[in-house]
Amino acid sequence: MLTISAIKADVGSVGGHTRPSSRMMEAARNHLSQAAKRGLIIDYDVTHTGDDICLLMIHNRGNDHPEIHELAWDTFKAATKIAQEEGLYGAGQDLLKDAPSGNVRGAGPGAAELTFDETAKERPAESFMIFTADKCGPGAFNFPLWAVFTSPLFCAGLMLPQMRPGFRVTVIDMEHAGADRIIELDVPERHLDLAVLLRDENRFGIKAIHSRRYPSQQVVAVSTDRLHTIAGEYKGKDDPVAIVRSQNIFPAPEELVSPYLTAHFVAGDARGSHNMPLMPAAINTAITGPYCLPIVSCVAYSLTKEGKLSEGVDVFGNPVWDATRLKAQQKADEMRRQGFVGPAMLPMQELEYSAFRKTLAELEEQFRIVEKAEPAYAKAGS
Ligand code: MG
Ligand code: MG
Repeated sequence: MLTISAIKADVGSVGGHTRPSSRMMEAARNHLSQAAKRGLIIDYDVTHTGDDICLLMIHNRGNDHPEIHELAWDTFKAATKIAQEEGLYGAGQDLLKDAPSGNVRGAGPGAAELTFDETAKERPAESFMIFTADKCGPGAFNFPLWAVFTSPLFCAGLMLPQMRPGFRVTVIDMEHAGADRIIELDVPERHLDLAVLLRDENRFGIKAIHSRRYPSQQVVAVSTDRLHTIAGEYKGKDDPVAIVRSQNIFPAPEELVSPYLTAHFVAGDARGSHNMPLMPAAINTAITGPYCLPIVSCVAYSLTKEGKLSEGVDVFGNPVWDATRLKAQQKADEMRRQGFVGPAMLPMQELEYSAFRKTLAELEEQFRIVEKAEPAYAKAGS
């Protein structure tokens, strides 16, 4: 069995929430390179999306393995140390605990992991994509995954015999602290029930998708931890990562990316408090847009049976996405023109985790109740 682990965290960035420094990236690569030399992992890659470092690790130890999670934690600690030395913003911000008990889930970093049998006949070659997004939450993947796995408008491949039996979608309640609270829905039959849940991107997120034709084959894994559920207050946005396997029994890369043409509005952005369109961007792009215009990047890889990674292809770092980028910028411009009004900002329920709640609490105290005044005509008649 081979495991793909993609673990992502913001442990400090240059000049605000832009990107990690070159030295931080180098330290992360060195850490994983040493782990590969001593045989803990087979192969790795390190990228950044905005201010988040993503550690991609291939190994054969399975999901939630303590040594793999400790390796990720130690790597983020090493990058944090450099961020502190360099005086960077938010050094170590996603490392919410001193030391996790063998698993980074619930300790701050976002983790997506997927294990599969590399010898399975239905997958003669393994290809997969890593989607990383910054300035938004795991719910940012709700719309694109729903679109591809339920609708032939976005994925004509669903009509092929391999995919016609559909998929099983595991949805998690991200507001539930502690043990995972999940529901499994089979699509296409229950695509409307799925839509009912996924429309609330702040509460419900897709955690996993499996093939129904080949039930042991998992096609999608998404990091679905929300920092405020862990910490009880706003600690930065839960910038997510998704692993999506592609081709033959699964949707093709060109289908998987088609919903990103929409540049759909997602929650997050500046101070994690606004709605802005998700712009596809090249991997290793800094966040420099107005109101932290959120970005999503995607790298496509192939994997040998021995767990060796190919070079990555930067899917959104290509001119075919220029028109979508322009559309996202125009949509962002329109939204920002209404400032804080209505859907430009998140509902109060979400802002309750941020410092906005303190301002609101102060104002709440200044409210007073006015008893209903007697109408003037009643007085005149008495
Ligand atoms: Mg940040
Ligand atoms: Mg981030």
